[in-house]
Amino acid sequence: MREIRIGDVTITSIVERDGPWRKPQDMFPDYDAEVAARHLAAMDPEVFDPASGRMVITYQTFVVRTPHHTILVDTCTGEDKGFPAPMDFDKTPWLDGFKAAGLRFEDVDYVFCTHLHIDHCGWNTVLRDGRWVPTFPKAKYVFARKEYEAWEAAEKAGDPRGNVFRMNCRPIVEAGQALLVDDDYTLDDLVSLTPTPGHSPHHCCVNIFSRGQRAVVTGDMMHHALQCREPDWSTVFCTDPRQAAKSRRSFLESVADTDTIILPIHFPSPTAGRIEADGARFHYRFRR
Ligand SMILES: [Zn+2]
Repeated sequence: MREIRIGDVTITSIVERDGPWRKPQDMFPDYDAEVAARHLAAMDPEVFDPASGRMVITYQTFVVRTPHHTILVDTCTGEDKGFPAPMDFDKTPWLDGFKAAGLRFEDVDYVFCTHLHIDHCGWNTVLRDGRWVPTFPKAKYVFARKEYEAWEAAEKAGDPRGNVFRMNCRPIVEAGQALLVDDDYTLDDLVSLTPTPGHSPHHCCVNIFSRGQRAVVTGDMMHHALQCREPDWSTVFCTDPRQAAKSRRSFLESVADTDTIILPIHFPSPTAGRIEADGARFHYRFRR
């Protein structure tokens, strides 16, 4: 993605991995082959690989630079987590991208996580002398309190995803670097949260406002442009698929045919785009 400018704020991307990934029939329980084929045929070539029948899915972190702060939104899968294939991505691209963005770990003021899944909070921590410690020593990490508490409870109940909480989330709180906030939290006049629950218990989008312009990091509120054509298609990874669909539709309605720039974590380059209304459906239009 090329650099985006929103008033006084710039936004760039650090990519951890990209390329063909999942087949839509494995991702969406409501998948319909005929419907999907019709939509995909009319979409930009970046979003689907016909040869493999796989959706093109990127894993990335957004770097938001405001006049006051350097902020990371979502931190991919990270390093040394011991995740089995295919989630054991090579660590070099993210570290190279971080460096290419002109950043050192100590430069980061805030880390926002749209939600606390494996691929959105990985670089929150690094392994040092056998312990998970915050990667960004001076940063405050903003987690929606109820999202944090939901994963804390899941970990206690023996949910296999508890390892993500133990490695990436709890050590931040223990280090005193977490801000556990309401899911409509406002950092300042530039950055705030909008609750979009469903994909995870308390998933939030991150708004960036400056000089009358708005961009929104939409996290996993949608994973693929197909979900703009079929907003009711939630994924196999959603905690509450119905609520996810409701959040998605109402968000898409709220930004359709406006100048709001959408930044979905998993959309391939050029990533950023606008939403266009089309009756009860929507189009995703890349910003080129
Ligand atoms: Zn994700």
